[in-house]
Amino acid sequence: MKFTIVIHGGAGTILKEDMTSELEQAYTSALNDALEAGYSVLETGGSALDAVKTATIILEDNTLFNAGRGSVFTKKGLHEMDAAVMEGKSLLAGAVAGVRNIRNPIELAIEVMQHSNHVFLSGEGANDFAINRGIKVEPDEYFFSQFRYDQWKSIRDSDSYSLDHSQDKVEKLMKHRKFGTVGAVACDQTGTIAAATSTGGMTNKKYGRIGDTPVIGSGTYANNHTCAVSCTGHGEPFIRAVAAYDVSCLMEYKGYTVQQASEEVILKKLVELNGEGGLIAVDAQGTPAMVFNSAGMYRAFKSSDGSHEVAIYK
Ligand code: ASP
Repeated sequence: MKFTIVIHGGAGTILKEDMTSELEQAYTSALNDALEAGYSVLETGGSALDAVKTATIILEDNTLFNAGRGSVFTKKGLHEMDAAVMEGKSLLAGAVAGVRNIRNPIELAIEVMQHSNHVFLSGEGANDFAINRGIKVEPDEYFFSQFRYDQWKSIRDSDSYSLDHSQDKVEKLMKHRKFGTVGAVACDQTGTIAAATSTGGMTNKKYGRIGDTPVIGSGTYANNHTCAVSCTGHGEPFIRAVAAYDVSCLMEYKGYTVQQASEEVILKKLVELNGEGGLIAVDAQGTPAMVFNSAGMYRAFKSSDGSHEVAIYK
């Protein structure tokens, strides 16, 4: 039976002219590392859940991406992370929102799924659960990166004084928005699928803002009858569109292929809601889909039939 892993490292205004060849190389090799690690789990008969966990942890540990170690700064200069996981055979799911100092939020989401009797934990309570379960924590310094700090500083200032800025300046800032969330979906040798998504959210977020990532059905979803989906982009429209579940519904109720369903949601429904971003998906036959309406999306897939792609731009 065909097995497949698909990963993403976020979508947004990712343009070749803004990229150095060193940076492009760094992103490509980071994607490759995560892809190969996830693929070898599947190749050796491991589960879809283990494959998406392995790939997501590698991306969380890399400061190039806005998740785990590379998470963006909040308005208060902190890091608040969201993550979710779902398994398509059992329809079990686990999610955390607004957690701090957790080295690998995806590990905590899996722990919630398997050991909490709940689906969704947030904030301090989720952190308490992490400590009880022996999940790895790190000091604030671990999450510091100069690049994210500089990014935050420029947006922080403009946000505080947004009324004093010209539309032009605001538009420029918005235009260069990048969403560096990470995610993985996989179909294993038994035809079971799983999805994982992890993020630091949006730079300069405040009031405990939570995006689509940890909301089951919006940013993350998996069902063996249809597909596994992990989204990235401007979270608010993805929540309103119930994006990940909508892909599944179009397959279940309308008989769409995973590619058709993904295009319908990302290229039509989200565009109408002004929702910038994309998604990766895989069906239970191992067919991958990678669709986005932004300038670029860090993405890659590898299937046991030999098909393989690592790409950044449109
Ligand atoms: N979707 C994430 C959020 O809104 C951001 C991202 O995909 O980078 O929190």
